[in-house]
Amino acid sequence: MVRGRKVSKRLISPVPHVYIRGTILTEQRQHVTVSDLVRVHACPVRFYYEKNDPVFESERYAVCKQLSYHLGTPLDKEVIWQEILAVSPALDPMLREFLALCITKCNKSEWKPAVQTDVKVVSEKHGIVGMIDRMAADGSFSIVRAAGAMPFGTYAADRLRIACIAFCLEEMTGSDVKGGSIEYLPDGVSRFHEVQPRDRRQVIATLHTIKSIRDGEMPRHPLNAPCNRCKYRERCESSVGKRLSELL
Ligand code: SF4
Repeated sequence: MVRGRKVSKRLISPVPHVYIRGTILTEQRQHVTVSDLVRVHACPVRFYYEKNDPVFESERYAVCKQLSYHLGTPLDKEVIWQEILAVSPALDPMLREFLALCITKCNKSEWKPAVQTDVKVVSEKHGIVGMIDRMAADGSFSIVRAAGAMPFGTYAADRLRIACIAFCLEEMTGSDVKGGSIEYLPDGVSRFHEVQPRDRRQVIATLHTIKSIRDGEMPRHPLNAPCNRCKYRERCESSVGKRLSELL
């Protein structure tokens, strides 16, 4: 069973519009969260199915997130574990071993201490809102992941996360943002990703998909969706009238 605590409930209702002197203004514009954008990019159909479901934070993420506040300083397992329990009292005690593993890995690398954590970033132009986990004194930023790192490069979802934050920061600061780091704490790896044009294109294309879902459209079944490990496989196969496995 997946354990976790309730984080938020996504709101996908159509956005009301106000017309003033021929201009359409969006009333309390509903920004797209970076996490929703990543979900839609993975599979818009699954996002559509789950659009009214609450989103839960994984227990592994709860551990890594709390650990991240201590990066760049001595990592005291007992202190961090007590903080984790204060935040998530029902956490599985077995996660303590996972914390120990993460600390062992993280102690093998140098980490920049954060001067700011949980920094909200917004792009009004693109309608995106997100969160930077850690910002260092030199202005660099990083996001924290509870997954292992790939041998080389970064996951598509993480490239998208960094591109979204770059869009937001560029608008907020007026300066170009080259990229940001992804901190894969179970492996103790920090990996810088330089934002590429294809990442920015993916963000914009995904925003269009989200807009059409918000407008009530059922998204098409993508051919490269991760159907093999998806609980909606039967539902999708029956709705497209053909086995997805024959297509993939
Ligand atoms: S089965 Fe495939 S297409 Fe359907 S929701 Fe899951 S990942 Fe998406």
